[in-house]
Amino acid sequence: MIETTIHTRAGGTVTVPGTTLETLRQSVSGEVIVSGDGGYDEARAIWNGMIDRRPAVIVACRNTRDVQAAVRFAVEHDLLTTVRGGGHNIAGSAVADGAMMIDLSRMRDVRVDPKRRVARVEGGALLSDVDAATQEHGLAVPLGINSTTGVAGLTLGGGFGWLSRKHGLTVDSLISAEVVTADGRRVVASKDENEDLFWALRGGGGNFGVVTAFEFRLHPVGPEVLSGLIVHPFEDAPSVLRQYRAFTEQAPDDVSVWVVLRKAPPLPFLPEEWHGREVLVLAAFYAGSMEDGEQALQPVRDIGNPIADVIGPHPYTGWQQAFDPLLTPGARNYWKSHDFTELDDGMLDTVLERVAALPSPECEVFIAHLGGATGRISPDATAYPHRATRYIMNVHTRWSDPEGDTPCVKWARELFEAAAPYSTGGVYVNFMPDDEVARIGAAYGPNYDRLVELKQRWDPDNRFRANQNIRPVTEA
Ligand code: FAD
Repeated sequence: MIETTIHTRAGGTVTVPGTTLETLRQSVSGEVIVSGDGGYDEARAIWNGMIDRRPAVIVACRNTRDVQAAVRFAVEHDLLTTVRGGGHNIAGSAVADGAMMIDLSRMRDVRVDPKRRVARVEGGALLSDVDAATQEHGLAVPLGINSTTGVAGLTLGGGFGWLSRKHGLTVDSLISAEVVTADGRRVVASKDENEDLFWALRGGGGNFGVVTAFEFRLHPVGPEVLSGLIVHPFEDAPSVLRQYRAFTEQAPDDVSVWVVLRKAPPLPFLPEEWHGREVLVLAAFYAGSMEDGEQALQPVRDIGNPIADVIGPHPYTGWQQAFDPLLTPGARNYWKSHDFTELDDGMLDTVLERVAALPSPECEVFIAHLGGATGRISPDATAYPHRATRYIMNVHTRWSDPEGDTPCVKWARELFEAAAPYSTGGVYVNFMPDDEVARIGAAYGPNYDRLVELKQRWDPDNRFRANQNIRPVTEA
């Protein structure tokens, strides 16, 4: 290997001789990849096409020992380090120019113990890996709504999706984590071992170490679930949203209904004259039996005069992939997000006014429906603090041509500002773009001070800083 200049944690650079990199390569069972090697461009590519960064070296790990070797190498040479799980973070924190990337994308093994209802999931697994393995036994972990997302980043931020109102956040089903710490040790964090680290991992992001495996409690789900989309004309949105609000305010925990406002994609069940026109989509899911679901979802199906209603039985794994075609990797994306405890009339009108002027056909506003089990846990029980949040709005701008950068980002920021007065002021850490450093305090809320203390204990040199960063006491 040739000598390579790598950015250091302290802000400088260090030139690492080829022989030293060769020694690293000999010590791992995965690969060590530098610019010019085959696979370099694939390994540095992440979901958000806005992020085009060139790490100096990528350690594509195959097991925990590889991760330990990579962390120790980073410590020895004081390297700036990033960690890649599924590569989906909007801020692109998995990759940094000139840094060492610890890449877990080859560590996707999922083992299910159906008797104990427990799954052991490696740190680079995607949601689809977990859904496929657990559904073989009619079980599931509450995860997100796009199956190509990484389990690690999602879990470490909190994690929510269709099952969360019934079974809580992803972190609420976490039993333990195997972690490589900032000094390269392997430790286990659970309620019985390193309890403080276990607390911090459940919402504190990638700040505390590299998680090489998660152990999750599983819940009976499916294999078929009542779910689907109801599409309304945009003209009816003011009334539909108010009825949606009334319905979701009293809906049972088994019910989750999310709102998507966007231009209609060419969905096969939509009459062609609607393609490309603004619509309001209600995405509905029932976590219990089909019969109960028919009854529970009927009021939402009775709202207004929909253009299409395709609620029906779907395999759970299929429903988990329902939004994948709209969220494929490689497009340019910018997000702004707010938490809400209620959907004020003013907030709804503000959103609708802006959605009437979408800056690109792929832009959308998502309103996720939380509450239920996610809110019945004390805000200080886990690092994730936003237990009172009942709706999360994600302004999701998406486009292909770099010329769209300015208008799309401007549109997202303006909608975000206009909706701010109605929000809690909190934000889901996993929905923050890379220009939101000032919102770190809002993301960790009242748990921030404890997280700073734990950062001091577990990563005093801020080795894991390429994230929504919690700085240790000595740096704060
Ligand atoms: P990566 O980009 O690989 O990593 C992000 C950061 O996580 C890294 O910088 C690092 O700090 C940390 N990290 C990753 N892996 C590890 C590890 N093994 N050990 C330690 N730290 C690690 N979130 C939801 O909760 N619900 C949703 O429904 C949802 N839908 C989404 C849909 C799309 C299209 C996208 C792009 C994101 C969605 N998210 C959702 C947000 C998602 O949770 C975050 O993007 C999350 O960071 C993705 O995790 P990742 O492993 O893919 O991230």
